[in-house]
Amino acid sequence: MAGMLYLVPTPIGNLGDISQRCRETLEQADFIAAEDTRVTMKLLNYLGIKKSLVSYYEHNKAFKGNVILERIQAGETCALVSDAGSPAISDPGEELVKQCAEAGITVCAIPGPCAVITALSISGQSTGRFCFEGFLSTAKKSRREHLESLIKEQRTMIFYEAPHKLLTTLEDMAQVFGIDRPISLCRELTKLHEEVVRTTLGEAVAQYTQNAPRGEFVLVVAGAPEETKEEATAEDAAAYVARLMEEGMSRKDAIKQTAKDLNLPKNTVYDAALNL
Ligand code: SAM
Repeated sequence: MAGMLYLVPTPIGNLGDISQRCRETLEQADFIAAEDTRVTMKLLNYLGIKKSLVSYYEHNKAFKGNVILERIQAGETCALVSDAGSPAISDPGEELVKQCAEAGITVCAIPGPCAVITALSISGQSTGRFCFEGFLSTAKKSRREHLESLIKEQRTMIFYEAPHKLLTTLEDMAQVFGIDRPISLCRELTKLHEEVVRTTLGEAVAQYTQNAPRGEFVLVVAGAPEETKEEATAEDAAAYVARLMEEGMSRKDAIKQTAKDLNLPKNTVYDAALNL
């Protein structure tokens, strides 16, 4: 019988965030696939778990994915961990999950620490609808193209960013989304120096120009405000009815059509069209 793959989230700063279920899964798995075996070894030492580790990271995943898959197909259970947070979210694992799904292997994701969700919940921005945009490219052109594709995005947008690229990213965002767009900069979540700065893009640029950013950041940017359509006036309605009548429509039908197209009450359009 084939084994299975467990996705095991690990703390993003506070070791106390490892859950009982994650502990048990790491203990019971036949082997652990880890992004960086040295980082995972520290966690296992803290938990008092001894287990065989294989490395699975960005640059060996094509080859190692097959090795892991074969072991699972032979009946072993694999626990996949990344350096911190949820595997497969801007971390190695996405490919392995796809491979397992295609091979009909059961994948079980254990819920737990994840920087994007922790940041969204603490951001103070709207949480009802959001989109996760991951890391922006380091190349200026594609970074700008990515941001420009989001100009009309009304959902809250969440980005991961490294501290040394933060200022450039904030400057680009301020140019594309405008300096008044609200942003929450969520830094060092669950750690000793956790901080959430709720401000605007313009002010964030000013702040981090003066003080170089340090630590890990998630950026939660408010979506674009809803486009407000200007309400049609009585003059607009009269002109609209007149045009429809010129095109051959009866007065009654023109009033009906105008009310529908301009989203106005029929009585208002009727009154506006009285003098035509
Ligand atoms: N898979 C992980 C997750 O979803 O939690 C994310 C891994 S990604 C390679 C690392 C990025 O997550 C960092 O560059 C930062 O943007 C964010 N991050 C991770 N831990 C964080 C923390 N404690 N505080 C703020 N951001 C964090």
